[in-house]
Amino acid sequence: MKQLLGAHTSTSGGVSKAIERAEKLGFTAIQIFTKNNNRWFAKPLDEKEIESFQVSLADSKIKFIVSHDSYLINLCASNPELLEKSRKAFIDELERCELLGILYLNFHPGSHTGRGEEEGIKVIAESINIAHNKTKGYKVSSMLELTAGQGTAIGYKFEHIAKIIDLVEEKERMSVCIDTAHIFAAGYDIRTPEVYKNTMEEFDKIIGLDKLKCFHINDSKKELGSRVDRHEHSGKGFIGKEGFANIMNDKRLEIIPKILETPKGKEQLEDIENLEVLKSLII
Ligand code: ZN
Ligand code: MN
Ligand code: MN
Repeated sequence: MKQLLGAHTSTSGGVSKAIERAEKLGFTAIQIFTKNNNRWFAKPLDEKEIESFQVSLADSKIKFIVSHDSYLINLCASNPELLEKSRKAFIDELERCELLGILYLNFHPGSHTGRGEEEGIKVIAESINIAHNKTKGYKVSSMLELTAGQGTAIGYKFEHIAKIIDLVEEKERMSVCIDTAHIFAAGYDIRTPEVYKNTMEEFDKIIGLDKLKCFHINDSKKELGSRVDRHEHSGKGFIGKEGFANIMNDKRLEIIPKILETPKGKEQLEDIENLEVLKSLII
C-alpha cells in the first residue's frame, strides 16, 4: 500500500493555499497551522476561506490533515492568567479545526514550570476536559504529541501520555502523535530492529497502538536521551537511515500518516528531498 507522506505546509495567503502547495509537492498528508502560531488569537475564519479549503481538499490527493496548535499554549501553566488564556486559545483551536473539517489537533501536553510533573499532568487533563465540555459533539480529536522533555515539558515518557488520557473523560476524543526526534531525545531508541521493536512494544503496552494516529518523522540533531528538541533532515541526524527504515517497513504502521517538520525554505524543496530519502528506505 502507498503510505501517506508529507510535511508541515505553509498557509501563507490563507488555509486553502496550503492544499495547493501540498498538491504541487506531491504530498498525501500535511500539517498546518490554522492561524499564526506565535499569536494567541486570530480573526475568525471567513466562510469563503472555509469553503475554498474544503473544495480544494476534496479535489486533492491529500488524505490526512492535522493542525498544530499555537506554540504559546501551555495547558498546565502555573501562572493562572496564562493557564486561563491557554485554555481559551485551545478551545479556539478546536473550533477552527471543526469549522475546517480537520479531524486532528496536535498539541504538546504542556510545561509544568515548577509545579511538578504529577500536578502538571492533572492540570493538563483538567484543561482537556474543560475544552471537551465546551466543544461537545465535535469530531476533531485532541492529539497529544510526545515531547523531548526539554525544560519542564511533560510528555517525554509514554507513562505521562497514558496518565493524561486516563484522566480525560472523553477518551474516544484522544489520540497520540509520535515525533521521532522527540522520543529519541527523550531516550527511546529506534536505531536497530531490536531496540525499535522494544520501543514500539512499550508504546503499545503503555499507551496502545490504537491511539497512534500520526508520526512527525523528524531526525534529531541531538543524541539519544539529550532531552533537547532539534529537528534534522531525514537520515542526517542521530537517528539515521537505519532508524527510519524500521518505521517505514513496519507493516502495522503503514496506515499511519508520516509528516516532516524539518528545516525548509519557502519552496519546501528540502521536504521533497527528505521524503525521497524516506521512500527509498521502503523494501
Ligand atoms: Zn509539536
Ligand atoms: Mn513535532
Ligand atoms: Mn520539536
